[in-house]
Amino acid sequence: MDNGGSIVFTPIFKESSDKINAVFVYSDFGADENSYIMMTREEMVVIASDPKNPNFHLLNKIYKEFDSDLFALDLPQYDDWAELVLAVDDACYNWIGFASDGLNDFSYVVCSSGCTNDLLNSGIVDENEEIAWVRGNCTKAAVIDAFLQNNGSLNSDVISAAEVILETTILGELSRFELTAIIENIGPELIFLLGEGVLSDACESTISSREMTSLVMNTPSIWTYSVNDFYSDLGEQFDYIVKKHFEHCLKMECVLDKLLETGLCSDIANSFEELEGDFDLIYQYDYNCMSHPFLSDDLNYGPDCEFSGQQSNYASTRPSPGCFEDEDGSIVCEPFTIQLYNKHFCDNLSPLEMAAYYLHETIHSEFHRWVYEGASGNITSTTQFSANGLLWSAIVLDKYGSDDMTNHHALMNEYLVPEMTDILWTINGETDVANKINYQYFVYDLLLSDDLLISMGYLTQTDLDNLKDLSSQVVSNVGCE
Ligand SMILES: [Zn+2]
Repeated sequence: MDNGGSIVFTPIFKESSDKINAVFVYSDFGADENSYIMMTREEMVVIASDPKNPNFHLLNKIYKEFDSDLFALDLPQYDDWAELVLAVDDACYNWIGFASDGLNDFSYVVCSSGCTNDLLNSGIVDENEEIAWVRGNCTKAAVIDAFLQNNGSLNSDVISAAEVILETTILGELSRFELTAIIENIGPELIFLLGEGVLSDACESTISSREMTSLVMNTPSIWTYSVNDFYSDLGEQFDYIVKKHFEHCLKMECVLDKLLETGLCSDIANSFEELEGDFDLIYQYDYNCMSHPFLSDDLNYGPDCEFSGQQSNYASTRPSPGCFEDEDGSIVCEPFTIQLYNKHFCDNLSPLEMAAYYLHETIHSEFHRWVYEGASGNITSTTQFSANGLLWSAIVLDKYGSDDMTNHHALMNEYLVPEMTDILWTINGETDVANKINYQYFVYDLLLSDDLLISMGYLTQTDLDNLKDLSSQVVSNVGCE
């Protein structure tokens, strides 16, 4: 380099690889100016779906050249990626230009202090290796910096939480999406628990920092609430389908039971049965607006438990590894997917509308099962379930040969609308095939808002108007009215 520094790119692949699996970039611009990035192919795919990493074009070119030189491989993907327009926050970076091919400048970009001031000043980035990581991984470091800024960068509990998150990100090689999901899902609980001293034992023990962070991330009170209490409530023998608190709304239970005996839902129930209870399917009615310490918040009640008015707040479905520490101190995981239904679900919806929600949420759970099975059951952290996570991408790639569809609703739209429509037609006691179309909007209505259904190309305006009109004539006749 002109300024005397150097950048080394190292390809990483296994003996059996047919293309490179990762690139390691190390830059040396004199004392205290080092940086590194370890960029896996999976993460390149993730970044391509939302390109904010300023080194993306450079890395793409390096990937292309290594694959060509080492494996005589030319993937069209690299040319597509070269066309992507990056959304980059200039304030965060120092650009070290070294080549251009007319389409893109191939600058190597390192993090300036612009977006990582709070992180650098917090004292948690103290080792040279960590400083070099921050320089090379600005998009992630900026997320942790924002976490500090938003929660109080002088508060020692917040700083401790940021330190755990930083270590997990570096050790676990988390993507920016996974990191963001961690902060959204457990950031506040982590600060709270550190403040209460709940985690101090773990910090003083002799286990490695990797074990400690995995323990922290999977502490049941952070994410899965009291899994121990939950299962002991249910008794030793629990079923693979768990229904909780439905005695508070018998109409809801009646609809759910009917749906679970119908078509696709019964297939899904059977596939959970085949897992022999290794991965449970849980339906829970939030009868008191607080039956789940974390998921209840997702339903966005008003201060006195009022309904938010948003239809998306009628239900929330999440997977969990359900890991906890047993009496001997070993980590045990009881993974599950849980669907939580709003208190107002019972009074506001007709049985047919209820069936549409149960069906929709049960398919979310089915996708969680795919991720679980794709990981051969080895799910030990919430991030492994993340919809944007690598496992999910791998599942979608595996099933459909493309990683474009990283979204449950897109999959439902593309593959499941007819079958879901059929189920609603059946459960409503219909026998006339000509009436099936009347049920289609009940399915679309839960995928996207009307304007998005059109702008995303799921439906044309004419079809939407027509389907909506047909659905408005349907009378609920599930048998639980
Ligand atoms: Zn959904």
